[in-house]
Amino acid sequence: MSAQPEAYADALERAKMHALEWLASVPTRSVCPQSDVEQVLHSLDIPLPEESTDAVSVIDELVARADPGLMATESGRFFGWVNGGVLPVTMATDWLLTAWDQNTVLRLSTPATAALEETAARWLRDLLDFPRTADIGFTTGATMASFVGLASGRHYVLDRVGWNLARDGLSGSPRINVFVGKERHDTIDLVLRYLGLGAPIEVEADTQGRIIPEALAAAMEKTAGPALVCLQAGNLHSGAFDPFEEAIRVAHQRDAWVHVDGAFGLWAAASERYRDQVMGLSKADSWATDAHKTLNVPYDCGVAIVSRPEVMRTVFGMNASYLMPDLNGVGDPFEKVPELSRRARGVLVWAALRALGRAGVVSLVDTLGNNASAMAAELAAIPGVEVLNDVRFTQICLSFGNDQLTRTVTEKLISDGVVWMSGSRWHNREVLRISVCNWATDADDVSRSVAAVRSAYEWAVA
Ligand SMILES: *Cc1c(COP(=O)(O)O)cnc(C)c1O
Repeated sequence: MSAQPEAYADALERAKMHALEWLASVPTRSVCPQSDVEQVLHSLDIPLPEESTDAVSVIDELVARADPGLMATESGRFFGWVNGGVLPVTMATDWLLTAWDQNTVLRLSTPATAALEETAARWLRDLLDFPRTADIGFTTGATMASFVGLASGRHYVLDRVGWNLARDGLSGSPRINVFVGKERHDTIDLVLRYLGLGAPIEVEADTQGRIIPEALAAAMEKTAGPALVCLQAGNLHSGAFDPFEEAIRVAHQRDAWVHVDGAFGLWAAASERYRDQVMGLSKADSWATDAHKTLNVPYDCGVAIVSRPEVMRTVFGMNASYLMPDLNGVGDPFEKVPELSRRARGVLVWAALRALGRAGVVSLVDTLGNNASAMAAELAAIPGVEVLNDVRFTQICLSFGNDQLTRTVTEKLISDGVVWMSGSRWHNREVLRISVCNWATDADDVSRSVAAVRSAYEWAVA
């Protein structure tokens, strides 16, 4: 028997009701969860049920148990890590994707979602000005997108020196030197470990964390052989972009593959306003970004872009006899990502771009930047508050004079529940880090957030 709609209707209606209640509560509830994980575990502490329970009761119980432990990340006053909210059209699309349950492996088996993902890829190339030949895979996030880019680069640079990685593996291969800016994201180190490439060579960065091209040239001079260079579009603390034009020239002069981690910053390439900061970006060989950050689609959705599709498909393709591969040269969805079975997450990108259009993406990116600069300016005007970075994108780092005070303000701020901002360490100082990446943040959120910081600071020094 195939699935009968009645079997789903009640549970879906219930879920929709709870979803709308949740969304209605977001603007006014405390941004901070009301229960910690131990309290939620305690409320879930029953043995594995022996008997079955109907779907509606399970959905009700799920909501009752989860609600106190939910972080209001969709609030316009959530600025933790780099998360982003959810555009309405992408939330609805996400529901449909679940209803359709298309395992997007082959063009043959899931033509609709494969075509939607290919269309999203075409629009992304246009929007962000990537080479028309570049191919795109939709991963779980930027970490795996960097994995795709760097795995492609690893294959390419070894192939160029005559080493057959697929056949002979890494044991005994020529060493690949990997160069990274001192302030690359930690996930780059993680990816290099996944790839068996070991620890990278760190290159000096400037005050905003941008790699220094002369230092990159000097570091590369000292080594020979295959090389990968990792650059960054959007520093986690300062929001800064590496000087792509110069750094990529240096890297390419030495035949290195250049990968760019632009988890949240790559989207700046859509806007004229950031033109000078992303100059030369499209000359890299691979790029990683997230759609679940700046583009505000639900988790999880990363984007891996590789300039040489044949390399990407050599690395991620396979010839299993039971698969019915696409033979017209475009490549199947599974040849562009590490997974085989997966949801059609690229359709979320299609929906966001279809709804926003180019103008909407530009306005989204520019609004995030405007909110960040407005907030930074208002915060800098509070005596005792120091803005540590040059705020030219979406990130703000604050200090309140000394590390202890910065920690105290951060804790107080989070427990007050009006905003959520994360603590971090940057340039040997404790910082309060504000990451502006939610489409829903408006002028009122900005002023309430500034007021919340001011009041937590005044409480801490009183
Ligand atoms: C968030 C982030 C990552 C990791 O992305 P995931 O989607 O969590 O895998 C990598 N680099 C930067 C700069 C990030 O902000």
